[in-house]
Amino acid sequence: MRYSQYLLPTLKETPADAEVISHQLMMRAGMIRKVAAGVYSYMPFGLRSIRKMEQIIREELNRAGAIECLMPMANPAELWQESGRWEKYGKELLRFKDRKSTDFCMGPTHEEVITDIVRNTVSSYKQLPLNLYQIQTKFRDEIRPRFGLMRGREFIMKDAYSFDLDDEGADTAYSKMYQAYRNIFQRCGLKFRAVEADSGAIGGNFSHEFMVLAESGEDGIVSCDACEYAANIEKAELVYRDIKTPAATAELQKVDTPQHKSIEEVAAFLKVDASQTVKTLILQTSEDEVVAVLLRGDRELNDIKLANLLGVDWALMAEDEVVKKTTGAPTGFAGPIGLKVRVIADTEIQGMADFVVGGNAVDVHYTGANLVRDFEVSQFADIRQAVGGDPCPRCDCGKFESWRGIEVGHVFKLGTKYSEAMDATVLDDQGKARTLVMGCYGIGVGRTVAAAIEQNHDENGMALPMPLAPFQVLVSMLNPKDDEVREASEALYQQLLDMGVEVLLDDRQERPGIKFKDADLIGIPLRLTVGARNLKEGNVELKVRASGEMSMLPLADAAKELQRLVAVALEN
Ligand code: ATP
Ligand code: MG
Repeated sequence: MRYSQYLLPTLKETPADAEVISHQLMMRAGMIRKVAAGVYSYMPFGLRSIRKMEQIIREELNRAGAIECLMPMANPAELWQESGRWEKYGKELLRFKDRKSTDFCMGPTHEEVITDIVRNTVSSYKQLPLNLYQIQTKFRDEIRPRFGLMRGREFIMKDAYSFDLDDEGADTAYSKMYQAYRNIFQRCGLKFRAVEADSGAIGGNFSHEFMVLAESGEDGIVSCDACEYAANIEKAELVYRDIKTPAATAELQKVDTPQHKSIEEVAAFLKVDASQTVKTLILQTSEDEVVAVLLRGDRELNDIKLANLLGVDWALMAEDEVVKKTTGAPTGFAGPIGLKVRVIADTEIQGMADFVVGGNAVDVHYTGANLVRDFEVSQFADIRQAVGGDPCPRCDCGKFESWRGIEVGHVFKLGTKYSEAMDATVLDDQGKARTLVMGCYGIGVGRTVAAAIEQNHDENGMALPMPLAPFQVLVSMLNPKDDEVREASEALYQQLLDMGVEVLLDDRQERPGIKFKDADLIGIPLRLTVGARNLKEGNVELKVRASGEMSMLPLADAAKELQRLVAVALEN
């Protein structure tokens, strides 16, 4: 490709609405252009990376035995009504009507359509196992689209669905996909972790998220520094081995804490550490129950663990009037003593004595509070957020390290949720109808490319790894008006093309400074600079974008050497 005839609109300035590096660089390097909030055009240069990502996915999934198909974006409401999601899926589901007033939605995911296909085409256990995937544009009307391709409303996803006769088969499908995902992200040259993720009502370790490690990540993850355990903090389990409640040594005392409301303020005022306080949260569940939750003062509630424990869709902070009715005081002064609702305490509290709690009255707290003696707890459970330094739940010696991560992929054992609702069965070898056991597996294509940029850039621009870079080699023709330079560059360009190397020839009538700046910004992994001075010695200059390493190559060997370097980089 010739730069002079290509569409590569680079920007000097960072767009004001681009908060994260990958979004900034994808805009500046002319990879994407915004059309509406969370809706982007893939420009030619960006599309090349997207297609490479898709190709890596395709190769690894085909290798794992999955089969590609393509489902429609427009989904009839009928199918979604069958699964119950037409009502349940919130505003992220973009619904619309056709000219006959029939309801449709834009597919945000395709369990319904694929289950419909399989129930109509598969009838015998002999046709199993089956794993179908597609690479397709999804639409989710995200409440806060942001970060460019990272969280769009329209985005490309690879989604796969496995169908098996029994649980065992489904587990095999799951581990095959898990391994395929590892291969995919490894081939992309990414630093990532596969972490245990919340699987809601299904439970067990049947959901893993693939997280690219990056400061800008929206997810918190922890991993053990001694064993393999890694989990999303939404899910990360905490265990307390041999937890014992210490004996009470202090009297329960009511104290005035004027103007001191937050844990930090109260702790400072009473001259105790925040870890000697217990906070009481009043929550309301999706089942309309009011519960009180106790946590050590310096801990955060994990509302997903709590919702799973209670078997509800959600548990949210109760509104002020509910808090007032429950505790007799405005929000901010709740305490467990005298409460009439169910009290759920984090397990950690079991190891505490003589602590500070709220007094259920304005500016009042208790010191010297103790379990059993002063108040009852209905249930102790693991409901707090894990943090770095917490002990690993799986091994005896490890501690958590904490990271930020970008969720690029998700593998999930669905079980029979959709096959049951939509009556997808096959006959087993006894001629008995059996409900199919499913798994679903997603990868965000654009999000992965964006995540790769988050991990591979410097102050001058991006440095995508070879497997995802739009081109492999940039030949920079320093002065196109110089006959020798032009002829040598053109010859190199031809040679590289003939060798099957993906090469961009910068043949623009621009100053060298501009060419170098653009080269760093668009970050093609290998740059060959053809300039008059080096040519006189029979040389061209090689720069490796990621490391900044420079070296001279004899013009005669340059193409061959570049072909070799590209091959090496693709193999790693
Ligand atoms: P998130 O928690 O980030 O919203 P999700 O749990 O909704 O993700 P899935 O439904 O599991 O995501 O979708 C599979 C994959 O699709 C995700 O792992 C992610 O890589 C990608 N993805 C999901 N939502 C978006 C989006 N709004 N923009 C770009 N990619 C997305
Ligand atoms: Mg989502």
